[in-house]
Amino acid sequence: MSLCTMRQIVLRKNLLSSLRNIVNVRNVWNGRESLGEDDPDILNIIKKEKQRQIYGLELIASENFASRAVQEALGSCLTNKYSEGYPGARYYGGNQFIDEVERLCQSRSLETYRLNSDSWGVNVQPYSGSPANFEVFTGLLKPHDRIMGLDLPDGGHLTHGFMTDTKRISATSIYFESMPYRLNPKTGYIDYDRLRETAKLFRPKLIIAGTTAYSRLLDYKAFREICDEVKAIMLADMSHISGLVAADVIPSPFEYSDVVTSTTHKTLRGPRAGIIFYRKGVKGQDKKTGKDIMYDFEKKINGAVFPSLQGGPHQHQIAAIAVAMRQAQSTEFKDYQLQVMKNAHILSEELVRLGYAVISGGTDNHLILMDLRPKGTDGTRAELVLEMSSITVNKNTTPGDTSAFTPGGLRIGSPALTSRGMKDAEFKQVAEFLDRGILLAVDIQKKTKNLKEFRAYVAEDNEDTAKIRALRDEVEKFASNYNMPGLEDR
Ligand SMILES: *Cc1c(COP(=O)(O)O)cnc(C)c1O
Repeated sequence: MSLCTMRQIVLRKNLLSSLRNIVNVRNVWNGRESLGEDDPDILNIIKKEKQRQIYGLELIASENFASRAVQEALGSCLTNKYSEGYPGARYYGGNQFIDEVERLCQSRSLETYRLNSDSWGVNVQPYSGSPANFEVFTGLLKPHDRIMGLDLPDGGHLTHGFMTDTKRISATSIYFESMPYRLNPKTGYIDYDRLRETAKLFRPKLIIAGTTAYSRLLDYKAFREICDEVKAIMLADMSHISGLVAADVIPSPFEYSDVVTSTTHKTLRGPRAGIIFYRKGVKGQDKKTGKDIMYDFEKKINGAVFPSLQGGPHQHQIAAIAVAMRQAQSTEFKDYQLQVMKNAHILSEELVRLGYAVISGGTDNHLILMDLRPKGTDGTRAELVLEMSSITVNKNTTPGDTSAFTPGGLRIGSPALTSRGMKDAEFKQVAEFLDRGILLAVDIQKKTKNLKEFRAYVAEDNEDTAKIRALRDEVEKFASNYNMPGLEDR
């Protein structure tokens, strides 16, 4: 061996051992490090968000706090598994336990809504509420078939076909033809007579009974009758109210609907996900032949979810839905939902007592809609001041609004704070905090010419921002006394 090659071998050995040393000092990364060890940046952001949730008053009507059990299922190894297909018919091996998870989730979901598996089926794979709706449309309709849903400014959801004069916003309005129905602006209730009239002219293939910002109950029987008159499929989208329906404290859409979609993270308190229930079995008898006519939704909807629009199901999410569905069958859950409605009612009464306009005059569910225009401010300004005071609400259009950017109202819901154990007395306090924040917004609006000046003013140090800070300190002291469901530090 030449001297030259010897030197090369020694050098290489030295290099290898020093590399090994570097790795040893750092302890070989093996994926078992905690989030704090592995990625302190993300952990810190999560901790800040956790503090925001603990110290703030969460009044966004579509939000809630999932339980620790739900979060543990979400954070489990089920996220590792591919399981394209359905239980017993997968495109990948190794799904024996995944099948158990999905089947259990299906049976619990049917039980939660008191459904018989002979006449109802369920798909638990939609990634969230919006995909669930689009999957129903894709499965049951042809491109450019007609859909009717509640207009977005009147309380409907984007996916119900929202479009403006110049733009088709929702994919529902791009790939299908959508026609909205609206509220009666005088009463704040859905105008069923005009819905019927329009449906007879438009002849939709599907009508959606569902809302995202509506404080009253839906007349499912009226929707059914209109659907029968125009031979439309009736889809109930119970995303906001599915917890109240599960607890049987408001009327259920299942008696009248053909298909029911929902999110699982709103009043239901599960993980962020979606779900589709559909009728199956015998629909009726053929008048001439007497033969059974069967529902044909199952194949079409399952095919639309996979393979048309989704790939591998999120089984960690599905396990977490199963956990939430079991919780939703308990008496504690029913008590919780009764308190959710009671708290919304108390909040509404207090706000009316304090001189606010509540749209439709009150609430039958978990949310209220305030019209701030009579007070001299709007949803955008009030939302901003309240956010600075650690109170989270969202601006909302009110009937007759011309601008979606500075709408006149606020949407306020009771589910999240009720999950923290707040009851009657606390919600009276919450009304008082809201009133103080809104009155500050009214004052500041008087002192500023436009929204830009308003924003600049609240970013300054002045007598009003001192008042906002004082309110924030009180709010945070109050909120931090209450239970926060979920994982301790995440
Ligand atoms: C929230 C909501 C949805 C959409 O849910 P995402 O999970 O946000 O996609 C659909 N329909 C209604 C009525 C909703 O309130």
